[in-house]
Amino acid sequence: MKALVIEDTVTSATLICHLLERMGLRSVHARDGESGIEAFKLERPDLVLLDIIMPGMDGFDVARRIRQLERDGEWTPIIFLSARASEADLERGIDVGGDDYLVKPVSEVVLKAKVRAMQRIAQMRYSLLLLTRKLNEANRELSRLSSVDGLTGIPNRRVFDDTLVREWRRAERRNAPLSLLLLDIDHFKEYNDCYGHQAGDDCLRAVAGSLDRALRRSSDLAARYGGEEFVIVLPETDAEGARNVAENVLEIVRGLGIEHARSPTASRVTISIGVATAIPARDDDSGWKKLLGSADAALYQAKDNGRNRIEVAQADQA
Ligand code: GH3
Ligand code: MG
Ligand code: MG
Ligand code: MG
Repeated sequence: MKALVIEDTVTSATLICHLLERMGLRSVHARDGESGIEAFKLERPDLVLLDIIMPGMDGFDVARRIRQLERDGEWTPIIFLSARASEADLERGIDVGGDDYLVKPVSEVVLKAKVRAMQRIAQMRYSLLLLTRKLNEANRELSRLSSVDGLTGIPNRRVFDDTLVREWRRAERRNAPLSLLLLDIDHFKEYNDCYGHQAGDDCLRAVAGSLDRALRRSSDLAARYGGEEFVIVLPETDAEGARNVAENVLEIVRGLGIEHARSPTASRVTISIGVATAIPARDDDSGWKKLLGSADAALYQAKDNGRNRIEVAQADQA
């Protein structure tokens, strides 16, 4: 632990440094306010003993400057030194950022007690800082976990729900189209039955991990909707753009080439996609439900029509 003694009276400074060293503290001495501030910047001491009356900058100004120099969350205990114990000085000292007050000539017992008290507070503060840091870290991790799907690592249903409502409102404000793709793996129950649930999980991860490749804009979102269903939100994208993305997704999943011997549709894992697009009407805050319903209906149509394909909801449906 290091103490900075800012004191113009050399005899007093020498005595204080000597006492501090006897207490096991290293000490640095500065003879006036300006060099005290320089020493503070350079040494970053754990404690400052600060004389009030000095030529040039007085102790109050030095304390104020030190408080400005401290970074966020930093705090260096400052103990003022004064030959007279005036109440006005004491009050002012605390006001400008000091923590305690010592009357000169300094008594070894009192100095020792005050330094110990300051060390204790500093220690508690430090523990609190560490705890806060850990808490912040845990909070960050928690918010990450609450937005990521545990199995596939892509955004989860919660993120999708929030995004859909937010993007619907944004589209409403901008009078822009919003498109939605609902994806469902074909005959996935058969896949699990044939290859086992672990292979099923691997398949879900592979499909989930491939979706981003079809996205073109940073505002596009692919998320796990649930089970073997995924969803893609495409802001400011019209029906034609959405169909293009859907065709890409279909191709990308086929291209994964995951064997599915028991699929009546193809020898590889395939998906079906329902596409819906809408331009929100003014004040239609819940229109996103209809959009989702339309994408769902289109998906069922794609299943009905033989799977491994895209169906686009009619504009008036969305
Ligand atoms: P369709 O082509 O009509 O979509 O048929 P399907 O078999 O894919 O649809 P169905 O809804 O009958 O079955 C979905 C299957 O997805 C059933 C379920 O066991 C499986 N599934 C859902 N979530 C998971 C998961 O997290 N891991 C694994 N391995 N399988 C899952
Ligand atoms: Mg002095
Ligand atoms: Mg399904
Ligand atoms: Mg399915």
